Amino acid sequence: MNEMQPKPKPVTFKLDLDLKNYLWEAKTCTGCAMCKYGDWIYVPSATEYDFSWICPEWEWGVMDQYGTAGRIKNILALFSGDLPVDNPTLKEIVYRCHLCGGCEVSCKRNLDLEILMMHEALMVQLVNAGVGPMAEHKILAERIHRTGNYFGQAAKERNSWASEGIDVAQKADLLYFPGCYASYKYNSIAKSVAKILAAAKIPFMLMDGQVCCGYKLFTVGLIDDVVAVAQKTIKKIKDLGVKQVVTECADCYRMLKVEYPKVLNIATMDLGFEVLHITEYADRLIKDGAIKPEKEFREKITYHDPCGLGRLSEPWIPWEGIRDADDWGKLKPAREYRRGANGCYEPPRDVLRSIPGVELIEMRRHHHNAVCSGSCGGVREAFPEQQAFETDVRVREANYVGAETIVTANPRTLEVFEESLSRMSAGGMTKNIQEIRERFVGADKSLGVTAFHIKRVYDLTNLLASAIR
Ligand code: SF4
Ligand code: SF4
Repeated sequence: MNEMQPKPKPVTFKLDLDLKNYLWEAKTCTGCAMCKYGDWIYVPSATEYDFSWICPEWEWGVMDQYGTAGRIKNILALFSGDLPVDNPTLKEIVYRCHLCGGCEVSCKRNLDLEILMMHEALMVQLVNAGVGPMAEHKILAERIHRTGNYFGQAAKERNSWASEGIDVAQKADLLYFPGCYASYKYNSIAKSVAKILAAAKIPFMLMDGQVCCGYKLFTVGLIDDVVAVAQKTIKKIKDLGVKQVVTECADCYRMLKVEYPKVLNIATMDLGFEVLHITEYADRLIKDGAIKPEKEFREKITYHDPCGLGRLSEPWIPWEGIRDADDWGKLKPAREYRRGANGCYEPPRDVLRSIPGVELIEMRRHHHNAVCSGSCGGVREAFPEQQAFETDVRVREANYVGAETIVTANPRTLEVFEESLSRMSAGGMTKNIQEIRERFVGADKSLGVTAFHIKRVYDLTNLLASAIR
């Protein structure tokens, strides 16, 4: 550096949900737009162009505004004052993002920018300015506050699934934390968790007064509400004195393990209890010989990685320090990055492999390169056509690789896949395929379209429970 030039000041930086902490990220973005692609090493793309994207929002909108590269331009304009925070187009663009983290792992291949937290902080900024969230999200938030659950059903009904011959302990080392979907819509999944634990002779307890984990509130920027539910829920779990918490919902899992620590500025390892997804727990039970899947499922199955169980589930480690602008922007002290590769990927696959007869086929986009099913964030509530499109593309990908059955490990994802399967079976896929062809490769080109042969969608918890005696 020229001695005559003043040295740039180090930039203080904190990993939290205040947008001002991400000015460096926004300024350092090169605009390369690689954040909309999966890893090209693992995602063959030359003839399967529509399966190379990792950003579902971009896949739907096909404009950089609908994705990180364009949104960063808007963030820079917000910082400079050129774009008012109450711009209605900005609001629409921001809330079409799923906060699925695909762009985060993609950008971190190159630059290690904190893209996902920047998106999260942008939503918080809109809420704090009185602009966000969308009207549909406000209705949902009011329902969750009033009833304590996503569906607006009676709070006293939450554990009613556990009444018929299910042995719930008064006191145990293990807490089962059923999410809103298993408690109200998919009771079979909660019963399957109980069956798996009973087969291994593991006593479990339930929590009195459990409420929604706040996942949907988090993903639309209602951070004060999330802090409140995080504080209350962690205190209740600690008061129970349990050692482990198991959930069947990938989003409850992510909230308990990652987002509660994040909003409370503590490390996952300091929670005082271990958070496990039932597929992780069941994988241990199978490997220890405590349960054994015996019933045969002779099916070609593909596994969809829920974002909350996969790339977004790495433990949270708080960090605060400086970006040294005079030293290539290095972070000091050095910090451990979360790049998505250490999510929960093999336990659910190993559970599937343990079931006799299962043939596991990977989709083009898998592990940390998996594309979101469209169910993450508040998109389903505010922009249902976008979510339906994105889910249909994912189901088509499963169909393209020859699967008969899609298995996932998140009840909310099961719901959108079931809906998509109904659309596809009724011929809805044709429209999507044609649309994708015209967008990407021209209406006359083939994308290897095959007949539709997906027959079923399962939640892995239910599949495993039906495979054990
Ligand atoms: S966020 Fe990262 S990957 Fe996306 S355009 Fe900017 S530098 Fe490129
Ligand atoms: S978080 Fe997901 S939907 Fe949002 S910009 Fe990134 S990849 Fe796209």
